[in-house]
Amino acid sequence: MAGDPLSASKALRVGVLALQGDVREHATLLTGLGAEVRLVRRPEELALVDGLVIPGGESSVIDKLSRSFGMQEPVRAAITEGMPMLGTCAGLIMLADRLVDAIDGQESFGGLDVTVRRNAFGRQTESFEAQLDVPALGAEPVRVAFIRGPVVEAVGDAASVLASLDDGRVVAVEQGNLLGISFHPEITGETRFHERFLARVRAAA
Ligand code: GLN
Repeated sequence: MAGDPLSASKALRVGVLALQGDVREHATLLTGLGAEVRLVRRPEELALVDGLVIPGGESSVIDKLSRSFGMQEPVRAAITEGMPMLGTCAGLIMLADRLVDAIDGQESFGGLDVTVRRNAFGRQTESFEAQLDVPALGAEPVRVAFIRGPVVEAVGDAASVLASLDDGRVVAVEQGNLLGISFHPEITGETRFHERFLARVRAAA
């Protein structure tokens, strides 16, 4: 198909961290984009993929499970080695170097030089959909869902802003091969963040 970002190459092998959260939605979207998707729960599964999506869900649970499955250090090592990753919502929290309003003892993988505040938009019932300008993804705004999402409160020198809300709050950031977003594109069928991630995977592989 013309314009298909994957048509020229063999399928890229990417993982979805499958400890908790909306794993299936990401797997379906990535498969639709032509990627070969593996669910990743163990270090030996991480070793078989060239990129990783960290889904939305509950970051404190993903953190606890990643430590009990022995995944924290392998994921941190993969980040240090430059593995492309896309973190959505709880996944953004997991990729942030600094957290505000985390539960006691909560840890992240880190990698993005940002401070992220959990639950910055209130409760589940205050979830909303929004139209966002993301210049890096083209002129067409993205339509995405915010579900008890975090906000990026401070952006360090190493990270750059991809998108902000009209009130200036930062909701998408990028640093090298790491992409972190506050919202859920997989729910509204928005594929461009995943395509950007897959382009990074292809370039890095
Ligand atoms: N509030 C959740 C957390 O702190 C994130 C919500 C989501 O991923 N949709 O992890």
